[in-house]
Amino acid sequence: MQGDFAAHKKILGELGVESKLVKKPADLAGVEGLIIPGGESTTLLKLMAPVAMRPALEQFHAQGRPIFGTCAGLILLAQETLPRQESLGFIDIVVRRNAYGRQIDSFVALGTPLTDDLSAEPLEMVFIRAPKIAQINSGVTPLAECRGKVVLARQGSVLVSSFHPELTQDRRVHQYFLQMLAAG
Ligand code: GLN
Repeated sequence: MQGDFAAHKKILGELGVESKLVKKPADLAGVEGLIIPGGESTTLLKLMAPVAMRPALEQFHAQGRPIFGTCAGLILLAQETLPRQESLGFIDIVVRRNAYGRQIDSFVALGTPLTDDLSAEPLEMVFIRAPKIAQINSGVTPLAECRGKVVLARQGSVLVSSFHPELTQDRRVHQYFLQMLAAG
């Protein structure tokens, strides 16, 4: 609907995965997994409301189809956001918007994977006006950290990252998500 969807689409193509843009509920038909890209979460919410995207995503999620949210996508998927904003509540984390600072405070850093599924090699991460995961509740597995904070986490079929894996050359996070699809 908005944000960095084109970069994700390109990467999926390079990985040999067919993809399409989802802008309205009918677009979810036949889709195995969904990426909600980085962008602006308030704008995404505004675009979702008139097409009734929320109930469609609730159904998609209830069917166990995997969803990966990066940055603004993470904010939408969180149980709770600070400051308060509507969210889908598909992953039991509390997230603070823009907690790494403003646009000019955006940065690239090396993060550390916490699961063998990503291999132990440091992971390059791009943070753009990124949300911070302020609290992780039970049932959520931390998968990578950076500067002392969890920045990649999963609960069941829901994966979130506060950074932008589509803006680096490392494909491990996308491959991890594709494995979730293959396993489901
Ligand atoms: N700050 C944005 C928001 O609150 C997220 C930024 C991003 O997705 N890169 O939605």
